[in-house]
Amino acid sequence: MSVNVEEKLGIDKFRVDENNAHIYIKNDPDLAEFYKLHLACPAGLYKIDDKYGCRFDYAGCLECGTCRVVGGETVLAKWEFPNGGMGVEFRYG
Ligand code: SF4
Repeated sequence: MSVNVEEKLGIDKFRVDENNAHIYIKNDPDLAEFYKLHLACPAGLYKIDDKYGCRFDYAGCLECGTCRVVGGETVLAKWEFPNGGMGVEFRYG
């Protein structure tokens, strides 16, 4: 049995707080450290472009905390849960 992760994530609903990003990355983070988050984030939100630029968008965050554990000291400038009523709403089915 195989699992299509994008299909599963597509079931969830997100309320993005456009006025308060709950995660910030540092300016010009170390690429090797950023790459760990690129591999670890289950939502695939840490992206590296073809010029080795680091890209991150908190929309679509699953609030799992993996990046906080892996890069909380090296890459992240801020990690908080979204304000009440915002963020991910998990759906199963
Ligand atoms: S909390 Fe989880 S889903 Fe959200 S950005 Fe970090 S690793 Fe990705």
